[in-house]
Amino acid sequence: MKQILPFGLFLTVTLLFACQFDEKTNPGLSSSFEAKYVVIVSVDGPRWKDTWGDNKHTYIPFREKLVKQGILFTNFQNAGFTYTNPGHCAITTGTHENIDNTGQQLPTYPSIFQHYLEASGYSNSTCQIIASKDKLNVLANCKIAAYNNKYNAEVDIGVNGQYFGYREDSITFKNALKIFSNKHPRVTLIHFKGPDVMGHQKNWKGYLASIKETDKYLYDLWSYLQADPVYKGRTAFFVTNDHGRHDNDHSDGFVSHGDNCAGCRHIELIALGPDFAKRQVVDRPYEQRDISKTIAKLLGFKMPYSKGKEIYELVGK
Ligand SMILES: [Zn+2]
Ligand SMILES: [Zn+2]
Repeated sequence: MKQILPFGLFLTVTLLFACQFDEKTNPGLSSSFEAKYVVIVSVDGPRWKDTWGDNKHTYIPFREKLVKQGILFTNFQNAGFTYTNPGHCAITTGTHENIDNTGQQLPTYPSIFQHYLEASGYSNSTCQIIASKDKLNVLANCKIAAYNNKYNAEVDIGVNGQYFGYREDSITFKNALKIFSNKHPRVTLIHFKGPDVMGHQKNWKGYLASIKETDKYLYDLWSYLQADPVYKGRTAFFVTNDHGRHDNDHSDGFVSHGDNCAGCRHIELIALGPDFAKRQVVDRPYEQRDISKTIAKLLGFKMPYSKGKEIYELVGK
C-alpha cells in the first residue's frame, strides 16, 4: 500500500504537469483565451433569406437555440469568389483566390491548419477536415514552397477520398462524432453539402429540407462537444457558409450561385465558446477572411498571409 500510493500521486502530478505544459506553456502557441479547441462547420450554399432572413426562422429552429449561447453576425459576407472551393479557401487561408472549383488546384497560401501545426508542433491528426465534397481535399495543402506538403491536416472526405465523389451529410456527421471521440482534434473543419446540391438539382423542397437537416446536425455537434470532458468549456464553435445563392429576381434564382448579387454574398456567421458573449446580435460587417485571423488570435498563432482582420466582438480584448 505504501508503495502504491506515492506512485499514484506521482502519476497524477506527472499527468497534471503534462496537461499544463500542453495547454499553457507550449512555446509555439501564445493565448490567454479559454478556448483551446476550434470547430468550424460550413453549410454549403444556403441563402441568408432562407435561413436568418426568414423572420420566422422556419428551417433553422436549432440555430435559434444555438445563438442563445453565442453571437449571431447579421452582416457577414463572402466578399470574394462565390463558389465552394474559393469560399472555403477564404475561410481557411484568409485570402481571396479564384482557385479551380473542381478540386484541381491548391490554395497558394497556408491555412489555419498549417500555421497551427507549425506553431504547436502537434501531430497532424490534431487538425481534421471532414467534408461531404471530396474536392475540399485541397484545403489541407497549399502551393508556396515553405508549406507545400508540410503541416497537412488529416482529411476524411467524400465517398472514399478525393476523386471518389460526394457523400451524404449523414455520413459526414457520423464520421465527425467518431473522429471527435477517437482523436480529439484541436482544429476541425466540418462541411455539409446538402443545400447546395439540392439547389443545383432545382429541388426547392429538397433544398429547404437539407437546410433543416443540417440545422439539426449543428445543434447535435455542439451538444456532443459540450458533453465531452475534453471539449466542454474549452471549444470555440463557428457556423458559416462558403457562399449563398442568387436572389430570386437574379439569373436562375436559388438554383445557382457564383456572382456578386446580394444573395450569393450574404451568408451567416454564428460563434459560440467560453470567451464569447451569449445572446448577442452583431451587425458590424465582417467577411470570411476574418475567421482565419480570429482563430489565430484565439489559439495564439500567426496567419501572416491572411488578409482578414480579427473580429472585435470575439477576440478584441
Ligand atoms: Zn454550388
Ligand atoms: Zn448571385
